[in-house]
Amino acid sequence: MPGIYIHIPFCRRACHYCNFHFSVSQRQKDAFLDALLKEITIQADFFKCLDGESGINTLYIGGGTPSMLDTSEITKIFHHLAEVFPLTELEEFTLEANPDDLTYEKLLSLRDTPVNRLSIGIQSFQYNDLHYMNRLHTTGQAVESLKNALRLGFDKLTVDLIYGTPGMNDRMWKENLQRVVEMGIRHISAYALTVEEKTVLHYLIKHGKAEAVSDAQSARQFEIMCKILEDAGYDHYEISNFALSGHYSKHNMSYWTGDPYLGLGPSAHSFRGRIRSWNVANTAAYIASLEKGELPSEEESLSSEQAYNEYVMTALRTMWGCDLIHIQDEFGEHFVREIQKNARKHLQNGMLEMRKHHLIVTPKGKFFADGIASDLFAG
Ligand code: SF4
Repeated sequence: MPGIYIHIPFCRRACHYCNFHFSVSQRQKDAFLDALLKEITIQADFFKCLDGESGINTLYIGGGTPSMLDTSEITKIFHHLAEVFPLTELEEFTLEANPDDLTYEKLLSLRDTPVNRLSIGIQSFQYNDLHYMNRLHTTGQAVESLKNALRLGFDKLTVDLIYGTPGMNDRMWKENLQRVVEMGIRHISAYALTVEEKTVLHYLIKHGKAEAVSDAQSARQFEIMCKILEDAGYDHYEISNFALSGHYSKHNMSYWTGDPYLGLGPSAHSFRGRIRSWNVANTAAYIASLEKGELPSEEESLSSEQAYNEYVMTALRTMWGCDLIHIQDEFGEHFVREIQKNARKHLQNGMLEMRKHHLIVTPKGKFFADGIASDLFAG
């Protein structure tokens, strides 16, 4: 199921933990939008060489903060995409949004666009967490944005949450989870707070100006989350993603199943067959390149070993795990022997299990899925 991702590189405020590409100045917004339309035109043939592929199934505008765009700008991007790519089979059009942008009026005007799914960056309902992370929105805005979105008929909602912040005790984390469950949100993405280098949070912790993050707390809160959401009927279909049956993210699923996708905008990545490409993570350079009619991207062709490792890293995070028949067909017998050999230790220690021909992380192994996946790598 081919998909398109668009990166909007603007935010109203810099969250302290964030290492995505964005700017808090909107000075380049108009030039960026012109460049984006040019990039769409230049990439018209991106999906053409793929055998048997039909229309685009999913469209995802992320960032950055795409909800900063006017609805007229979102519609303009969509119409240009529809002139260039076959969008008649589009099933899911997701817009990432922050609660402070989602006023009743904004939601009302978003209803008139083709957007049919909102991914709302709630992160937490607790004042202490929002302050620690330097989020712009308030608890009240978080609640109101969800209530209004539901009231206006946006039933395809996903909420982002963050756990493991130093000020959040287990009771507060349970309250955050229970609140989204009680509101009837059908899809939840939840991430442990990680401190990436070159972020403000990294600097603040290093200089003793912010409390450090604890792995033990994150592991405990991950377990709490699994219990609460699974008891509430959510499928834990990917390590960071939970959904009620039938409400999985189609766009994310295509990343995890190796479908082709085109990434547009600065820092966006694309994938097609064994070719991976990425745009420059610099908005000025992105605009300058497209003004000359050139794509601002580099690409590489993955070796079998790299493609196998990527498959293991993404597949092991899903509830379907690594399919040994797929590995046999796609990469060859050698890689099946490799994964069987490397998995032995984790099969014995109860972190992995075999179900038919699928190698899957057990509940005990889930929090450590990325580390386990790297143990299964070839090479
Ligand atoms: S709103 Fe999102 S992209 Fe922007 S700084 Fe915060 S976390 Fe990063």
